Amino acid sequence: MNKQALVVGLGFAGAVVARSLADAGFTVTAFEKRPNIAGNMFEYERSNGVRVHMYGPHIFHTDLKHVFNYVSSFSSFYPYSHRVLGMIDGVLVPIPYNFTSIDKHFSPSKAESLKRKLLSEYPQDSRVPVSDLLRHSDPEIAGLGGFVFDKVFKNYTAKQWGTPVEELDPAVLRRVPVVIGEDDRYFHDAIQMMPLMGYTELFDNMLRHPNIHAHLNSDALNRIRPHVSSGKILLDGVPFQGPVCYTGSVDELFDYVLGSLPYRSLELHMEDHPVDLYQPASVVNYPNDEAFTRITEFKHMTLQDLPCATTIMKEYPMDYQPGGRLIPFYPIQSDRNKKLYQDYLALCEKYEDLFLCGRLAEYKYYNMDAVIDRALTVSTRIKETPRYEQEG
Ligand SMILES: Cc1cc2nc3c(=O)[nH]c(=O)nc-3n(C[C@H](O)[C@H](O)[C@H](O)COP(=O)(O)OP(=O)(O)OC[C@H]3O[C@@H](n4cnc5c(N)ncnc54)[C@H](O)[C@@H]3O)c2cc1C
Repeated sequence: MNKQALVVGLGFAGAVVARSLADAGFTVTAFEKRPNIAGNMFEYERSNGVRVHMYGPHIFHTDLKHVFNYVSSFSSFYPYSHRVLGMIDGVLVPIPYNFTSIDKHFSPSKAESLKRKLLSEYPQDSRVPVSDLLRHSDPEIAGLGGFVFDKVFKNYTAKQWGTPVEELDPAVLRRVPVVIGEDDRYFHDAIQMMPLMGYTELFDNMLRHPNIHAHLNSDALNRIRPHVSSGKILLDGVPFQGPVCYTGSVDELFDYVLGSLPYRSLELHMEDHPVDLYQPASVVNYPNDEAFTRITEFKHMTLQDLPCATTIMKEYPMDYQPGGRLIPFYPIQSDRNKKLYQDYLALCEKYEDLFLCGRLAEYKYYNMDAVIDRALTVSTRIKETPRYEQEG
């Protein structure tokens, strides 16, 4: 009999583990509760021909060469530099805020003075946290920090998290940069690419392997459950003899016995428009005057040449309720929630064959590159576990 493995969820976390174990000779049974593979990266074509990301825009960016090499074995990629504009005081300006943004918001003499001072304080093209500018001893630089904080960051973040900005972790503010120069790329990773035929095809290639048996429309929790007295995961009531890689929500796995882990979600509204292009960039942020946070126009990312047809997506942040129609997108990091997650982890430790991987199972925001890296590490751990090395 072959070595057996179970994988729950077919986003990047589950798909990478499934493929790595299949390559190592495991027979992998995978359950995905949605009707499609690719998790939140799922991409499909609208009736107007535009390829869209169903769960929000996903841009592949990384400094991890081995991760890019890994995904490149399942798809060709094309270079893509993501650019974001923000509608601030009725003007579209680059985000992160940069010298072009300063030129658009201030008089020529004020803008020149600000840029000269910034260049005398910080290296050209560096990204300075807005929190550093706010604390600066020069009132003009601190004033710019205050302007960016108020107009770009404060209301956007309050909308995104449904919380006044004062209640957020100060680390969030340290991650908001101002660019000392004209570079208007949103990300500054060495590798910024998009899969040539889209993420769904990449996943399709990754999961096309004779050892992988993927079941769509299959909620794993109808088939598996943790059995505390044996310390085993039961599959259809029988102890499963092999690793179980779980990428769903950890509170759901234990039937919310300790309470539910809170998430922030999004209502995603897709609109088709009979025009060549709707807006001048892939993403336009609306920090202040609208209920939505941003509009994505997918044609800027897919680079499709489709006259008189485009599709946009508006994002309305919402609270997430377990069992409701929304998706748990962003873990809400607070001391209480981190402690609750640790309590769930303590439950998981009783199950030696259970391996948690991914944004839901680890209650953590992961970018795609980080989750792929993590899934490769989890796969290696499973493959190197002596009790799985012999054939079962
Ligand atoms: C709006 C938004 C935009 C983002 N943009 C970017 C970006 O531009 N670049 C970037 O690098 N990252 C981005 N991310 C992060 C990216 O989405 C994550 O890194 C990625 O989804 C993590 O993969 P995962 O496999 O852990 O989770 P998911 O993709 O969510 O996959 C988990 C899968 O498990 C399935 N599942 C759950 N429970 C069960 C069950 N009981 N039975 C069966 N199946 C189950 C789910 O249906 C889902 O398909 C973005 C995230 C969001 C929310």
